Amino acid sequence: MTAPAVGGHAIVLGASLTGLVMARVMADHVERVTIVERDTLPDRPAWRRGVPQARHTHNLLAAGQRALDELFPGLTGQLRTAGMVPVRMPRDMLLLVAGGWVNRFDGPHVVLTGTRDLLDHHVRSRLREIPNVDWLEATEATGLLAAEDGGVAGVRVRTRTAGGGTEESDLRADLVVDATGRTSQAANWLRALGYDAPEESVVDPRTSYATCVFEPGPDQRRDWKCILIQSTEREPRQGILNPIEGGRWMVSVTGMNGERPPHDHDGFVEFARGLRTPVLYEALRTATPVSPVYGSGRTENRRRHYERLSRWPDRFIVAGDAFGSFNPSYGQGISVAARTAVTVGRAMAAARERNGGRLPAGLAARLRKPIAAEVNAAWALSAAADSGYPWAREGRQPLPDRLAGRYMQRLLRVVTDDQRAASALFDMTHLVAPPTVVFRPGIVAAVLRGPRRTVIDTVTPPADRGLIFEGERS
Ligand SMILES: Cc1cc2nc3c(=O)[nH]c(=O)nc-3n(C[C@H](O)[C@H](O)[C@H](O)COP(=O)(O)OP(=O)(O)OC[C@H]3O[C@@H](n4cnc5c(N)ncnc54)[C@H](O)[C@@H]3O)c2cc1C
Repeated sequence: MTAPAVGGHAIVLGASLTGLVMARVMADHVERVTIVERDTLPDRPAWRRGVPQARHTHNLLAAGQRALDELFPGLTGQLRTAGMVPVRMPRDMLLLVAGGWVNRFDGPHVVLTGTRDLLDHHVRSRLREIPNVDWLEATEATGLLAAEDGGVAGVRVRTRTAGGGTEESDLRADLVVDATGRTSQAANWLRALGYDAPEESVVDPRTSYATCVFEPGPDQRRDWKCILIQSTEREPRQGILNPIEGGRWMVSVTGMNGERPPHDHDGFVEFARGLRTPVLYEALRTATPVSPVYGSGRTENRRRHYERLSRWPDRFIVAGDAFGSFNPSYGQGISVAARTAVTVGRAMAAARERNGGRLPAGLAARLRKPIAAEVNAAWALSAAADSGYPWAREGRQPLPDRLAGRYMQRLLRVVTDDQRAASALFDMTHLVAPPTVVFRPGIVAAVLRGPRRTVIDTVTPPADRGLIFEGERS
């Protein structure tokens, strides 16, 4: 850990995953960090209003696990001990991609599944151990304070008082990090300071989630932990069953193009029957719902191109969902947040080394490009894949995108029984390799040769098929 720069104060707005990891790296480089959070934070794993998506399935990808362990050594081990479930991909999964069931080989990656409440609680607890981080709860940021040099001097906040009223005050800081998520007001705050608002890119497959927690039924023959059923253009419904702490299942079903899954238990299970395969429905038939069904429609891919603005106020950083958010079906948000924090931490350390231990002027503006690069890596998968849905894009797809789309469709057939191609796809989806990994010569050759299986059987459970394919290989 680098010695903190003398006198510096950073304010981090938002105490969800991005705020927590950004506060963690700021603590290495300034004397004092203050987290400003609108909610009152629980001291145990519990849901809160500011993170409504915590009621839905969350996967922690390999890249996110690595980054979180770098920020908080041993964290993922701690999460497993606390009940998060390691799911070997695809060995422990029934994974139906557009091209069929993926054969269940021992792949290179493990997904961690569990509730967001548990994950956030452990990250918060680790951050609470860091002495130069202060917490200001029940406090909402309402704008930025302008400095005389045109940069940011702090934030204006509104704090709820014990008597039920509110109090406004100004908090001064040498750095302000906006980690307030999809509903970030940073663009408006910039405008109020005389800066331009960023351009936005939006790819919206109009996905709607419904999620319910189940107690599994008494099936002894289950040889899988997780079910993931991806949609196709012709069958635009998805389903995911994640194991979570306490031996329960968290199940999300998803409609697209404006279709909303029902929010009652019977309707929810019936909707699962209408997925591309009855496998998830069969699992739910003997399971007992133990939570209400919750919905979420905050799911579009949205980028705010802060990196393109020619004028930028010094000492202001935007990160996480506030900068770029993704269709949750790809499970990327937390991993992007954690990777961004690692990248920002490294850039700050390097900048201080060049500047006699102090943070140089103009650093916040220069951090926008590396932060945008982390967003790009995830966007290249989620937005590109979603723009294959005609209802998610405006007009006809450009030729290169159409060709890439066709390549991906073929790849999604090939990965069902080609381990090398599947591993490359998983490297890409886990954000541990750039999207170009699926264009390596060996993979391209396999895609050009085409899939070995020509008929897609969505009904037969892959456990049987997995054994058959292993036999074929030997
Ligand atoms: C349905 C759904 C499922 C998802 N599944 C996955 C998944 O499987 N894997 C994955 O990696 N990601 C997933 N995501 C994305 C993930 O939830 C986010 O990327 C993650 O929470 C990080 O977001 P964030 O911290 O930037 O913002 P958020 O989580 O939105 O948090 C923003 C925080 O800022 C606070 N806040 C807001 N405004 C103010 C203000 N003015 N002043 C002070 N505080 C404020 C809020 O109270 C909150 O604490 C999913 C998202 C959705 C919607």
